[in-house]
Amino acid sequence: MSDTEFTALRALYRLPEPEVLQALLPAAASTPQELDSIRERARGLIAELRAGRHLGWIDRFLHEYGLNTEEGVALLGLAEAYLRVPDAFTADRLVQDKIGPGDWGAHAGASPSLRVNGATLGLMLTRYLVDEAEGGPVRRLVHRMGEPAVRAGVAAAMQMMGEQFVLGRDIDEGLKRSRRGAGAIFRYSFDMLGEGARTRADAADYQAAYLEAIAAVGRSAEDEDVFARDTVSVKLSALHPRYEPLQADRCVPELTALVLQLAHAAKAAGIGLTIDAEEADRLEMSLRIIASVMADPALKDWEGLGMAVQAYQRRAAAVVTWADQLSRASGKRMTVRLVKGAYWDTEIKRAQEQGLVDYPVFTRKAATDVSYLACARALLAAPRLYPAFATHNALTAATIMQWAGARRDFEFQRLHGMGVGLYEGLIEHAGVNARVYAPVGGYRDLLAYLVRRLLENGANSSFVNQLADPTIGEAGLLADPVAAIRQVGGAPHPKIPRPADLYGAERRNSQGLDLSDPPAVSAVLAEMQKAWAAEAADPGPPGARLVLDPADHRRIVGAVREADADACGRALAAAVAAQPAWAARPVEARAACLDRLADLLEARRPQLMALAVREAGKTLADAIGEVREAVDFCRYYAARARQDLQPLTLPGPTGETNELRMVGRGVFLCISPWNFPLAIFTGQVVAALVSGDSVIAKPAPQTPLMARRAVALMHEAGVPEDVLHLLPGGPDVGQALVSDRRVAGVAFTGSTATARRIARTLLEDDQRPLSPLIAETGGLNAMIVDSTALPEQVVADVITSAFRSAGQRCSALRLLCLQEDVAPAILEMLEGAMAELRIGDPADPSVDVGPVIDAAAAERLRGYIARNAGRVLAACALPPAAADGHFVPPTVIRLDRIEDLTEEWFGPILHVVTWRAEELEAVVRRINASGFGLTMGLHSRVGSAQGLVRSLARVGNLYVNRSMIGAVVGVQPFGGEGLSGTGPKAGGPHYLHRFVVERTVSIDTTSAGGNASLMTLDASLEG
Ligand SMILES: Cc1cc2nc3c(=O)[nH]c(=O)nc-3n(C[C@H](O)[C@H](O)[C@H](O)COP(=O)(O)OP(=O)(O)OC[C@H]3O[C@@H](n4cnc5c(N)ncnc54)[C@H](O)[C@@H]3O)c2cc1C
Repeated sequence: MSDTEFTALRALYRLPEPEVLQALLPAAASTPQELDSIRERARGLIAELRAGRHLGWIDRFLHEYGLNTEEGVALLGLAEAYLRVPDAFTADRLVQDKIGPGDWGAHAGASPSLRVNGATLGLMLTRYLVDEAEGGPVRRLVHRMGEPAVRAGVAAAMQMMGEQFVLGRDIDEGLKRSRRGAGAIFRYSFDMLGEGARTRADAADYQAAYLEAIAAVGRSAEDEDVFARDTVSVKLSALHPRYEPLQADRCVPELTALVLQLAHAAKAAGIGLTIDAEEADRLEMSLRIIASVMADPALKDWEGLGMAVQAYQRRAAAVVTWADQLSRASGKRMTVRLVKGAYWDTEIKRAQEQGLVDYPVFTRKAATDVSYLACARALLAAPRLYPAFATHNALTAATIMQWAGARRDFEFQRLHGMGVGLYEGLIEHAGVNARVYAPVGGYRDLLAYLVRRLLENGANSSFVNQLADPTIGEAGLLADPVAAIRQVGGAPHPKIPRPADLYGAERRNSQGLDLSDPPAVSAVLAEMQKAWAAEAADPGPPGARLVLDPADHRRIVGAVREADADACGRALAAAVAAQPAWAARPVEARAACLDRLADLLEARRPQLMALAVREAGKTLADAIGEVREAVDFCRYYAARARQDLQPLTLPGPTGETNELRMVGRGVFLCISPWNFPLAIFTGQVVAALVSGDSVIAKPAPQTPLMARRAVALMHEAGVPEDVLHLLPGGPDVGQALVSDRRVAGVAFTGSTATARRIARTLLEDDQRPLSPLIAETGGLNAMIVDSTALPEQVVADVITSAFRSAGQRCSALRLLCLQEDVAPAILEMLEGAMAELRIGDPADPSVDVGPVIDAAAAERLRGYIARNAGRVLAACALPPAAADGHFVPPTVIRLDRIEDLTEEWFGPILHVVTWRAEELEAVVRRINASGFGLTMGLHSRVGSAQGLVRSLARVGNLYVNRSMIGAVVGVQPFGGEGLSGTGPKAGGPHYLHRFVVERTVSIDTTSAGGNASLMTLDASLEG
């Protein structure tokens, strides 16, 4: 498939939301007459639904406990985690945590449904049983006896909630249930629960389950018409552990082969197969796979392939056009299931985190509806597409009925457990076809799906939630989305700022790179190639030392001339002389230099990324992160300086002015590490500069080229050359500079041992003013995982935290503490996921783990692994090409006790210990006892466990239920305590204060005569 086929699709992605919507409005609009009929039909459907004939207890239950209530959120949390907890101790804590604090009494008798009120009573009783604060011997007795009963009750309730949305535990049970009762009038599409496989083994199990389902559904197929038969729906993320844009070169062909296998089986079974739609960054890959399956000659006469299109995506209309062209080109019919989309909140968050130009989805609910209608119109007009309209919204369904007229060559679709009433009536009275999407599987695989359903039912923007809400009148349910969008001119939702505007007026968010956009990625890669060529061609100044690529030490990256004593002396003298004038400049002028620098860094991003890859061995994703962090530092410190470094007028007695001013200390020495050669380097230097200090920057000897590039940009941004000096060199240069009395302060990031040496040197000279040291050092960072955690999420976060950047981040995970009940399963999944990591030259965008920085580091780490060979639980294999670089395989080492980890191993080495359910508090205390206090991670769904760890952990950065690296400037100010650093935190609101001295000036304004201002007060008041 050629790239040009995606041109229209990609163009839509880049257009502003109003423009995309303007183009959709004509197709989405109905005539006034049509609107009348649509409303009439919808009114009838709504009245019938509201009369309660079809409104199930679960609808009412989920409405009663909507996500706008504390209890609703608690139930969602319980449902998400409870069924996977293997041990009674943690299960009880989870129930107590979720049910204990809720005000269940407030819901008593509130629902029109007896069953909902019954459930509320059950929850009230549960709360009573788990409430430890309630005293009395009888209650305590009930409490003790009650625990197993509560556990059984909650498990049954969660199972029931699950069963509401899942048709059966396996395909046979699903098929059997589909033939019974009200369900019998529907067609079915069976989905094998499971998504987001992390390992090959899991993916293979899902593939086998799909094959089995296809065969079973085929055996039970009776209808002549293939479109009327039951089908199977498949999620591609279940079939491959690395279904990601940067892995497209392997996952697309592998997935194509897997889907072809399923399609051939479906053809043989005489049934259809539909590919579900998942996250927006997977869209293009899924289309490539679908196109290959459509083009397969062996499937020439099989018209069973289907695909889902998400209307909430801005590209939806273009995807429908693409599908139309594909079906025409292949001469075959294809089913298109039109859905609105199930991952909206995830898409918004992800785009903000990644600093994308805009969102892949619409930001107003009405916009999604408009897009849905425009796509529906296009589907009805496409001759070779078989439309399947998946919605539970009566107004949407009524509109389609209106437009379809007498046609019945399409179908509606609903999810099992939802929308029964809507379609029973339409089947009965209007003779439409309707299909149920029916998930099948065990409880373990149910959770991700169940959470999406609960979110859908519980969100007050969703139709099903509004239907169950008696305060929302008919007019609200029948509001025309086209009119709503016209009224606001398609403007985006005012409360959802574009990713660039996330930080409001304070500063612009740094630009990310959309890794799912192949042309954007290719353009950056091409620029990086050019930069590599130019750098390598530059022989550097005479006497220069060559800088070699850590991924391949035969490759020259550039050359550097290191500073000698003369250069150091000259730079210091110049910096001392230049500082007063620099400090005298208004804060605004210095801050403006930082803003210009941020723009320059973004403009030269590919060149900087090129250096991050070749000089520091960073992967593409890390290189993007590196530039973004540097940009964020500039804009954040500029904003903080404007706010914090202004003179403050202080209150005091009349006849006197009192002012506090913040003034640069003098010359600041910034000593930065190689692991963030641009970000940390820039952060330290610009903080000092904006505070009014002149700066001597001493980068790590491993990454002088990046520092040179950064300093050149700083000068270009307007920082005078005599204010900022670069002195490349090793520890001797650093030591000489630290010892110099002219240095008024040191910002250092590196090892605890070096920080100590610097601190000692600063104090050695009796004649020297006491100078501040801002030190950020290492840590023995631990992640604690209890049995409520989601293993798939834990494994993804462990891989990111321990192995990204080859473990060469101060924040990286070093010690994984797993609750023993879940340790074997998580370790097995971790090993499987590690086997999927790509290790190699980071210039290849698909590489996950690059080299460590130099030969010395590699040797030390390899030696450590060799000495612990008997304790290795899992290790990645290195590719043959790794022999020419400093590669260390990601490795997991088992320890007996937390205390056995005494040293920071700065590389891709993860240690693992286990703990017993009752030991959480002891685990945190033992981790604290190491004396390091940088980062800590916790994976637990139990709020009280989160509270406990939060109150006990002595760390600078605690991360709960996420990875523990990638602190964002101004969002997660970064830095540790104890052996991990002095503070204040980099990227935090107190950082700049360490770079300045404070001076107050008090002036007695009456000394030259009387207190004129006091004497004129009355007059001014009267005036
Ligand atoms: C048979 C079937 C198959 C499905 N398959 C898939 C699939 O493959 N992939 C998938 O992603 N989903 C799938 N879904 C889920 C589907 O996306 C949801 O059920 C659907 O969004 C609900 O739409 P509705 O018309 O019933 O509800 P409505 O309440 O009318 O619409 C809800 C939609 O509005 C969106 N929305 C809410 N607030 C905003 C906002 N501020 N801005 C923009 N949009 C907003 C929601 O995200 C949701 O998409 C499927 C659903 C069905 C019935």
